Amino acid sequence: MAPDAISLAETALVQKKLRLLMELRRAGIGDARVLGAIEKTPREKFVSSAFEDQAYENLALPIGQGQTVSQPYVVALMTEKLELGERHNALEIGTGSGYQTAVLARLCRRVFSVERHRELLGDAERRFGELRLRNIVCRLGDGTKGWPEQAPYDRVIITAAAPEVPPTLIGGLALGGILVAPVGDDHRDQQLIRIRRHDQGFSTEDLGLVRFVPLVAGLPRRAGGQASTKT
Ligand code: SAH
Repeated sequence: MAPDAISLAETALVQKKLRLLMELRRAGIGDARVLGAIEKTPREKFVSSAFEDQAYENLALPIGQGQTVSQPYVVALMTEKLELGERHNALEIGTGSGYQTAVLARLCRRVFSVERHRELLGDAERRFGELRLRNIVCRLGDGTKGWPEQAPYDRVIITAAAPEVPPTLIGGLALGGILVAPVGDDHRDQQLIRIRRHDQGFSTEDLGLVRFVPLVAGLPRRAGGQASTKT
């Protein structure tokens, strides 16, 4: 592309981003820190070039391995409901493209993020490096088991849906901690919930309907790897 063409494409993306930010405000996202983090995070870098021009549409987009990056409104809503502070450490289950991770990383001290697909995690970590986001630590693994070595967490976010929140993740919440997660069956509308840990126990709130890919226990089988052969 000629330099002029590049800057034209960039200008178009900036305009689309500003439109999206207005749309998020209209939809009720009022936290200026959250909107600022979304403004600073280039969503076009978290999708393949084929979807770049849709990066600032309020749409979920494919990221490979049958997974999707959530629509910006849902990322903004979940981030806002987490009430992140600068000193918080957060656990994220489902790194995916790394977009939600990058938004969180601008708002808290450290993000620990777990992903079960090696390929997605590799791409996400490359993006964190390019964007110089140095307060993100990732792990390949089954997030339903949490990341006990770093617990307790001030904040926990799960970006894939299960019929119930894995108890290990609730148990890993610090006192005063908040967990936000979609809960429900595959193929149905799921309820976004927020759980708070108090002195006396836990309280739960419903935050509305969402649709996420499923939270899947275990790691995917590697092609040509440990898959057993039938004889
Ligand atoms: N937050 C992501 C959204 C990814 S979609 C983003 O901004 O792009 C949900 C992700 O959860 C997928 O990448 C999927 O592979 C991952 N996932 C599903 N079950 C998981 C599990 N048990 N442990 C870790 N990651 C899981």
